[in-house]
Amino acid sequence: METPLEKIPRIDRLVDAAGGLVARFGRGATVEALRAAARAAREQLLRSGGEAPGIVELIAWAERNLSARRPGPPRPVINAAGVVIHTNLGRAPLSTAALEAMRAAAGYCDLEYDLATGGRGSRGARVDPLVAEAAGAEAGCAVNNAAAALVLVLAALGQGRDVLVSRGELVEIGGSFRLPEIMAASGARLVEVGTTNRTRARDYLCDADVALLLKVHPSNYRITGFTEAPSVAELAEVAARRGVPLVHDVGSGLLGDAGDPWLAGEPSLRGSLQAGADLVLCSGDKLLGGPQAGLLAGRADLVETCRRHPLARALRLDKLRIAALVTTLEAHMAGAERDLPAWRMLRADTGELHARAAVLATRVGGVVVQGETLVGGGSAPGAGVPSPIVRVGCRSPDAVAGRLREQNPPVVARAEDGALLLDLRTVAPADDDLLAKLVTASLSRT
Ligand SMILES: *Cc1c(COP(=O)(O)O)cnc(C)c1O
Repeated sequence: METPLEKIPRIDRLVDAAGGLVARFGRGATVEALRAAARAAREQLLRSGGEAPGIVELIAWAERNLSARRPGPPRPVINAAGVVIHTNLGRAPLSTAALEAMRAAAGYCDLEYDLATGGRGSRGARVDPLVAEAAGAEAGCAVNNAAAALVLVLAALGQGRDVLVSRGELVEIGGSFRLPEIMAASGARLVEVGTTNRTRARDYLCDADVALLLKVHPSNYRITGFTEAPSVAELAEVAARRGVPLVHDVGSGLLGDAGDPWLAGEPSLRGSLQAGADLVLCSGDKLLGGPQAGLLAGRADLVETCRRHPLARALRLDKLRIAALVTTLEAHMAGAERDLPAWRMLRADTGELHARAAVLATRVGGVVVQGETLVGGGSAPGAGVPSPIVRVGCRSPDAVAGRLREQNPPVVARAEDGALLLDLRTVAPADDDLLAKLVTASLSRT
């Protein structure tokens, strides 16, 4: 009779049965993972006895390890978590037109080719004037992200000199954007002015070898209570007096005052330039609703100095993101924000949302309650868009949320005390039916 140890299938039999893994991960990695699975099974048997695992179990074990080591490209998920610009879920979803433009540019394209002359063209010519137009500025350009735009500005205009920043704006955004570290990397010297809660315009008149004044939108937090911060206009006056530029990191990429109540007080590119900022910068994949990018706009001489800096070449955009960014900016210029998913969701008709929520609630055994969708991406912190939320009472909402994440496609939802919360504002209406099925499947195993 075979002992349990002898029952562990041989490697060649495992490899023969794991054709799917070989096709996906390659033969070498698959053989190695199957060997590791067999070894782990042997050790387990020697340690605690029991039955030998079969072929199916060993292949599943190997697949889990291979997938963990090589997660593959990002998978689509259903965002029912109620955060529109969700940093962990890829920020702004791209428009259909942006996707089509990316597809068109994916092969050979005239990225830097002048079709009229057959000579060299400029990739910047497609983007830069559009950025300027969108921001209402003399000039503009686009780089890898807002962090890159800031590094470029600081390196081009502030290297080896002092940059004044309010202590209330020395922020960390999105995990790894830490202003003091960005400053250090750029070679500019950070000079802190004012205090955490109160900074006045005259604090920026301190003695220093000043290259520029920097204002940063403290996107993801608010200091409340006894606070004071100078307006852009007041800072512009100080900057003009010192004869240095005022640079404003606006953050979210709001182009102008859109009049939406949940964005009250959110700075915009045009608003900041009109108030006197010399250069503004922002992200492309937050409220702008486009791909990851950093937009820089303002005075032509300053933009040109940034553009000519060697770092600009290292931070430039590739053709796919240029395609998506140009298409996104064109939508803004055409007044077609509704074509951009983030804006469509933020401005979704409340009546329609209620109707969809009522259908979902009935199907999954929940109720519709009043709640809020967060704008996210550091925009309008604390303020949300009123939304109907489907609340499904259950004994272990965390376990249900965990099972939802294991579905195909995975669903991301919020779990609170005694209930699962589903926000349809961030779900495409075409996914409602699928969502109801996935939620039902995840609830029924409780
Ligand atoms: C989000 C944000 C950034 C970082 O933007 P990235 O595009 O992710 O580099 C920088 N500054 C502000 C104010 C922000 O809100």
